[in-house]
Amino acid sequence: MAERQKVSVITGAAGFIGSHLCDFLLARGHRVIGLDNLNTGTLRNLEHIDSPDFVYMNVDITDFIEIDGQVDYVYHMASPASPVDYLQIPLHTLKVGAVGTRNAIGLAKWKRARFLLASTSEVYGDPEVHPQSEDYWGNVNPIGPRSVYDEAKRYAETTTMAYQRQQGVDTRIIRIFNTYGPRMRPHDGRAVPTFIRQALEDKHLTVFGDGSQTRSFCYVSDLVEGIYRAMMSGYHFPVNLGNPAEYTIRKLAELIIEITGSKSDIIYQALPTDDPRRRRPDISLAKKLLDWEPTLKVEEGLTHTISWFKEYLAEEQLR
Ligand code: UDP
Repeated sequence: MAERQKVSVITGAAGFIGSHLCDFLLARGHRVIGLDNLNTGTLRNLEHIDSPDFVYMNVDITDFIEIDGQVDYVYHMASPASPVDYLQIPLHTLKVGAVGTRNAIGLAKWKRARFLLASTSEVYGDPEVHPQSEDYWGNVNPIGPRSVYDEAKRYAETTTMAYQRQQGVDTRIIRIFNTYGPRMRPHDGRAVPTFIRQALEDKHLTVFGDGSQTRSFCYVSDLVEGIYRAMMSGYHFPVNLGNPAEYTIRKLAELIIEITGSKSDIIYQALPTDDPRRRRPDISLAKKLLDWEPTLKVEEGLTHTISWFKEYLAEEQLR
């Protein structure tokens, strides 16, 4: 007898990573139910999908989530994730991490589905340990402006572990480090889309601080492969997913100027409060457990992303 088609629910399906995960799972033959309230996501990220296996539902996951029929997997991706977004909607960000996570995991429990929480490297705060491995507990300012995201995600991890230990829900937690690629919003405020947009428009690239702070950038297709492998693993504790190649933000800006061939200069602006100084994932665990590591070099990933942005910005002008 043929195996029944697997059903995956994705919260935040119209977001940057969520929409790529929809594509990935549909290509693997899953039925996908995508939930979003379009607060930071957009239907434009889903409009290319032409599949009878895909259903979109406009749902705010801070309300009760009701879905008919069997569900096998719940990928909980929904949350504002750019500092600009979560500073604009701080209380909603807290609510999504707390109430939204509880509802999403409640759905998994009810359906006896496997649950994956998309957590974040922000749980490490401004880290005092470098690179960051999963056993580091982090250095988060609980009352700083970023705390609405950091603490909400820490609470979401706590909730997930409690449901796993006390309620027997089959859970996974991934900690996503900086990820980039097509479908990031040009105005979401993050370094990669901001610099690309500025470079393509021959505007100054706005580097915050002196640009010596570091991040490590993972291309979205690599990340999505890691997310899927984590879901298919049998491991309940957090797993870092990210690219260990570490760049200063100044270097990132220079690379983008070089690849776009832009005439832009770099200008330096004030560093936001609690902006982490250094960030690089230790991915030994993901390598061992999931046989996963990123395959795309940053130069290659940026080249793809830049050509997507060129098309996107040209289309924007026509709309
Ligand atoms: N950043 C910058 N200019 C910008 C946007 C961001 O210099 O226009 C810096 C930001 O201060 C941080 C780094 O780039 O040090 C990465 O920021 P992003 O918002 O992309 O991600 P996160 O801070 O969440 O890692």
